[in-house]
Amino acid sequence: MRKMMQYRLYPTEAQTAALDDQLGEACRLYNAALQERREAYQRGGLSLHYYDQANQLKDIRAAGNLGLANFSASQDVLRRIDKTFKAFLRRVKAGASKPGYPRFKSRRRFDSYTFPSWGDGCRLTAVGRLYLQGVGHLQVTWHRPLEGQVKTVTVKRQAGTWFVCFSIAYEGEALPGTEARVGIDVGLTDFATLSTGETIPNPRYYRKAQGTLRIAQRRVARRKRGGRNRRKAVVLLQKAHAHVQNQRADFHHKTSRTLVDTYGVIAVEDLHVKGLASGMLAKSVHDAGWSAFFNKLAAKAEAAGRLLVKVNPRGTSQTCLCGAPVPKTLSQRWHECAACGLSAARDHVSAQLILGLGLSLLGLT
Ligand SMILES: [Zn+2]
Repeated sequence: MRKMMQYRLYPTEAQTAALDDQLGEACRLYNAALQERREAYQRGGLSLHYYDQANQLKDIRAAGNLGLANFSASQDVLRRIDKTFKAFLRRVKAGASKPGYPRFKSRRRFDSYTFPSWGDGCRLTAVGRLYLQGVGHLQVTWHRPLEGQVKTVTVKRQAGTWFVCFSIAYEGEALPGTEARVGIDVGLTDFATLSTGETIPNPRYYRKAQGTLRIAQRRVARRKRGGRNRRKAVVLLQKAHAHVQNQRADFHHKTSRTLVDTYGVIAVEDLHVKGLASGMLAKSVHDAGWSAFFNKLAAKAEAAGRLLVKVNPRGTSQTCLCGAPVPKTLSQRWHECAACGLSAARDHVSAQLILGLGLSLLGLT
């Protein structure tokens, strides 16, 4: 399995200029390679391959036409184009009405480049700095130890701040087994409700973040287009977004860690089921956040040898544990069953139904 570990870089002024330059050169190579592909394609659907382009790299570099210092990183840029273009050709082949031609990237938007193998143009120095070819020896904040086998190294710029991302191969360590089982209902009012009745509230930063983002957004809107002050406001907005994303990711990591540590079988809703019931439709607003949470949950469950099962959420908000239909509108937060007399919080009932469906899918009932 792979995991990403990200650390903040503290480049000097000269190193920042060098990083910007390397990124700019990667972007230039990307656009030039894309240009060549477009021309070949427009000349009659002839498509270039990765090696057609990679074979030119040596000459281009020998002629001094490329400032991207590491050869393998240059190859990686071409592989990126190759991937993008193949996806485009697949869409064309599938008859997509708008296949979405791969686009040129602006220097501002192009925000990362990758060293595809550790030790080739990138390594740790004896004093704990990160050496990057073409940039130098960078200071890094090692907020947690870099463990495991490093595969690739990606350098990225986010809201004017530089980071290094290590992709690391690791083997999951199975946790001791547990009989405990849980169903999870993600909700609109609380972040999630468990079949045990426990609720996980939305973190308090959530509301605060929305206010902060709105203010930053308004500041951008007030500034004149193309002006330097607008650029500054945009960076502040990007920073605010990044901050929220970090907080959310942190919350997702901690919550999924607790769940995986506690339960041996975890049942969740499958958010990808088409034709969701009315209750789920309103939830789709939050899908992105929940998918990110479920992905982290799935990765941790797999690494720990836990069972994660996804169930079709249809009906889980409209049925009773006894099987009788109990229709509820979105605003009805309480479940009252006329058939069996069950009276409970709506999401608690849903979570129990999700667990039941999960267990029957696994044949554990
Ligand atoms: Zn009932």
